[in-house]
Amino acid sequence: MFIDTATILVRGGKGGAGVVAFRREKYVPKGGPSGGDGGDGGSVVLVADVGVDTLLDFAGRKHWYAPDGQPGQGKQMHGRDGDDVRVALPAGTLVYDDASSELLGDLDEVGKELIIARGGNGGFGNEHFKTATQQTPRQCTPGNPPDPPEARAIRLELKLIADVGLIGKPNAGKSTFLAAVSKARPKIADYPFTTLEPNLGIVDLQGYRRIVIADIPGLIEGASQGQGLGTKFLRHVERTCVLVHLLEIDPTDGSNPITNYHAIRAELAAHSAALADKPQIVAISKIDLLPDLADRSAAVELIEAELGVKPFTISAATHEGLEPLLETCWRRLEK
Ligand code: GDP
Ligand code: MG
Repeated sequence: MFIDTATILVRGGKGGAGVVAFRREKYVPKGGPSGGDGGDGGSVVLVADVGVDTLLDFAGRKHWYAPDGQPGQGKQMHGRDGDDVRVALPAGTLVYDDASSELLGDLDEVGKELIIARGGNGGFGNEHFKTATQQTPRQCTPGNPPDPPEARAIRLELKLIADVGLIGKPNAGKSTFLAAVSKARPKIADYPFTTLEPNLGIVDLQGYRRIVIADIPGLIEGASQGQGLGTKFLRHVERTCVLVHLLEIDPTDGSNPITNYHAIRAELAAHSAALADKPQIVAISKIDLLPDLADRSAAVELIEAELGVKPFTISAATHEGLEPLLETCWRRLEK
């Protein structure tokens, strides 16, 4: 599980003050009280929205303050209410008080809302205090403070479970593939990785389907440097449902795709039996490097014959074959 987090400050708006006013009309000797009530302050409302996948955007905006209500006015005019500020979050976001770490809410499904900072009610104008015995009240009340009265820091946490793990030799095209298929790349913080930063990508498929792909780098890169993957990272990627094994069609280092395939499988088995047991989809990458279709199918057939499985063929450069591969990943996840 990867945790995407953001801390933001929220505050409701203050209620507007009520006012004291009297009607002043030319031929009316004693105008009655006409001070209007203040408007209500706006609230900050967190909403689980289908259009949001990550908390990345919150790096750019820390303050989410709702506007104050406007004071009342004469002629019984109510002050304008402050608009609510609606903060769109991905479904699955947990909301904590940053100071106490108290869990304030769980936006577990799309459409769920949480009022995280409530605007104060507007005060009463003097018109409100008019009674049979008090025809000229001079009272009014100030607007109420928001609840809580001061800005509060809240911590948002989105747990992402990687559905698909990407494996392959260095240079197989893992990072490029991830960049080609995912629109969001949450930073993974707080993991004591001993070696390379793993990459996470969120892939959006039509119909609000989402796949989280983790690039599992360094199985070989790190191992060759005697570092290996952090065990904590391994434990998390071990929760993936399926692996995509990328094989360069025509390895740039002149190596053989089949040898590379077995090298990765052996590394995987050496590092994590749990990962080695995952279902695997083989995809031949960089097929644009063999533009001649006869060359291409000859190369693919050779690999297919050696591995005994029908590989997918993709190019992250031209986007060829990406969609069928992702759809197949999705079908595997559904099972
Ligand atoms: P990784 O080590 O598996 O993450 O591989 P990278 O994604 O960093 O890719 C290694 C090299 O191959 C880079 O120079 C990429 O630009 C190149 N590359 C990756 N995918 C493609 C592809 O689909 N077509 C071509 N022509 N080059 C690619
Ligand atoms: Mg890479």
